[in-house]
Amino acid sequence: MSLLSIRHLSSGYPGGFTIRDVSLEVERGAVVGIIGPNGSGKSTLLATVMGDLSPMSGRISLGEKDLRLLSRRERACAISVVSQMIDPIAITLRDYVAMGRLPHHPPLYYFESTADQEVVDQSIRMVGMEPLAHRYMTELSGGEQQMGAIAQALCVEPRLLLLDEATAHLDITHTVRVLSLVRSLAKDQTHPLTILAVLHDLTMASEYCDYLVLMRDGQVYAQGRPEEVLTEEHIGEVYRMPVTITAHPISGRPMVLPRMA
Ligand code: ADP
Ligand code: MG
Repeated sequence: MSLLSIRHLSSGYPGGFTIRDVSLEVERGAVVGIIGPNGSGKSTLLATVMGDLSPMSGRISLGEKDLRLLSRRERACAISVVSQMIDPIAITLRDYVAMGRLPHHPPLYYFESTADQEVVDQSIRMVGMEPLAHRYMTELSGGEQQMGAIAQALCVEPRLLLLDEATAHLDITHTVRVLSLVRSLAKDQTHPLTILAVLHDLTMASEYCDYLVLMRDGQVYAQGRPEEVLTEEHIGEVYRMPVTITAHPISGRPMVLPRMA
């Protein structure tokens, strides 16, 4: 059974942009990449899965439950999100990461148990941010803040992790570190995490995702394994840009190379 099931979903902004008839089944432990040009509806889709937007029609279920039946708190424990924009606040990175434990406690009551402390420390360790744990978020670079946001999302210990261009401010080393980390968490034998990630870099998406969803104008244009979705015809058509697709010399996965004008 799928961990996340999206059936004939329409959602968006009343009188404005909508995504239409989106259907997607995400298996537990899968890393699913959402790709598509700017404005194609990727963030709208993630915002609807997160519950920030209500479906206009169709349904979303997590495990066996319709998402609408989950309370805000249940949802906040089950799904965490890292978005492209982080509003840094003047607290330490460690305190920022620890905020990921809040949904697991009653409102306005947070006493950090030993178990919470372990999860916080482990989340910081996983993204390699121990040296900066006691620095203020406002004193970190955009990339460091983004690593902090990823640690906070992991600290929730969610069933589903949503990444919306979460590697946008990261250099190649940190991008690879984050994508390898989330992939290894998804492939964990005992508690696999399931990941839905909006990625702009098509070659990274190809390398790290099991399955890709290519969006255009609010609809799914193609979905399937990277080699099914990343074809010269699909990418040329959706991005209106000629590309050459070749196999990665080591992994054999498709690599997308723009044909320079
Ligand atoms: P993507 O993430 O693929 O770049 P989005 O889902 O963010 O695209 O946006 C799709 C469309 O929805 C865009 O045309 C954008 O202008 C519009 N949009 C995004 N956020 C809002 C909003 N809060 N209110 C109205 N329209 C919005
Ligand atoms: Mg977006």
